[in-house]
Amino acid sequence: MKTYTLSSLMLGIAAVALLSGCGRQDNKSAATTAASTEASAPARAAPSEGRAIVIVGNDAMKFDVTEIHATPGEALAVTLKNTGTMPKFSMGHNWVLLAANVDVATFASDAAQSVKTEYVPTAKPERVLASTKLLGPAESDTVRFYAPTKPGRYTFICSFPGHFQVGMKGELIVK
Ligand code: ZN
Repeated sequence: MKTYTLSSLMLGIAAVALLSGCGRQDNKSAATTAASTEASAPARAAPSEGRAIVIVGNDAMKFDVTEIHATPGEALAVTLKNTGTMPKFSMGHNWVLLAANVDVATFASDAAQSVKTEYVPTAKPERVLASTKLLGPAESDTVRFYAPTKPGRYTFICSFPGHFQVGMKGELIVK
């Protein structure tokens, strides 16, 4: 009887050790996120002001604005508001504008692997023209940038895993 109690106790200790091991790993990846975010500075200076465009995203994984029209080189200020209620780790949203000729499916796949940089891949940074932070419920963020000078249709997506695939996307139409 006494032996049984002791081995149960030891099992309990082993479980606690396993749990705290996981916790340590989480802290480590959070620190890495903070360090690598600093490395992704925009190549071109952003305008201090721009035409305001507000886009709402929510738990339905859709943007309420799916077409933005702009003139070549126009200064824009895109604000994304997350009006959802689900936690950021399971339902975060961002707004990522892609350069022309970027394969969106490939980019989305790379993004899904980029958890440490909030789903914006650091490889081939020229693929991203502008992006907001990854937002949790009731958060918002504004990104100011110049529209491309070359007329065309530029895709924007939420790069949180799975969201582009279910339609969280739109286009910036420059003409
Ligand atoms: Zn999203």
